Amino acid sequence: MDHTHDHGHDHTHGHDHGHDHGHDHHHHDHDHQVVPDDIALRVKALESVLVEKEMVDAAALDEIVDAFENRIGPRNGAQVVARAWVDPGFRERLLADGTSAIGEFGYLGGQGEHMKVVANTSKVHNLLVCTLCSCYPWPTLGLPPVWYKSAAYRARAVIEPREVLREFGLEVPEDVEVRVWDSTAEIRYLVLPERPAGTEDMSEEELATLVTRDSMVGVATVAPPSGDGS
Ligand code: FE
Repeated sequence: MDHTHDHGHDHTHGHDHGHDHGHDHHHHDHDHQVVPDDIALRVKALESVLVEKEMVDAAALDEIVDAFENRIGPRNGAQVVARAWVDPGFRERLLADGTSAIGEFGYLGGQGEHMKVVANTSKVHNLLVCTLCSCYPWPTLGLPPVWYKSAAYRARAVIEPREVLREFGLEVPEDVEVRVWDSTAEIRYLVLPERPAGTEDMSEEELATLVTRDSMVGVATVAPPSGDGS
């Protein structure tokens, strides 16, 4: 992969990738302005007012962000993954046209208009990154975690993905190819993790509870159900 982008400054603000501004946008050709855009400014202003008026406190806001990052957000993607595990027809549609198949669940919209789903196999492990900023499939995964937006992750996921995965606690065997997918303003990716062993008797709904955000970004695999199993 060719990564010639300028990483000299930080793009971790919540910018919009220009879909609504009507101008042409090519791969990562969007403005990386340093000041937050309108929406970010409005959110900050609103937050200040609400905190000032004691309508919410900062901890409550952190809790909401945590929910969208870790709990509510990724549950959508988890349902998509579980469906692909139990329904071969859906899996085929999902890999052929992610946008359309995810659309069957209604999980499209902002930051998820064009989805490509990449499947992990015994031979391939997929990893998502946005080398330039923080492009992330919001409708299926919620808000991106802080580490995803960090300069270190953005650079190192491409340069030394196996080392990065090791730091996440995932040792990818040498005979498994690691593919790194650089998200863009045009396309957002979702990893379809492998279904773990010992889940043959689980329902689609139960399977969805096993699927973590990290497994759909590719920094983890899906662990078998905890406990003794059956
Ligand atoms: Fe980006």
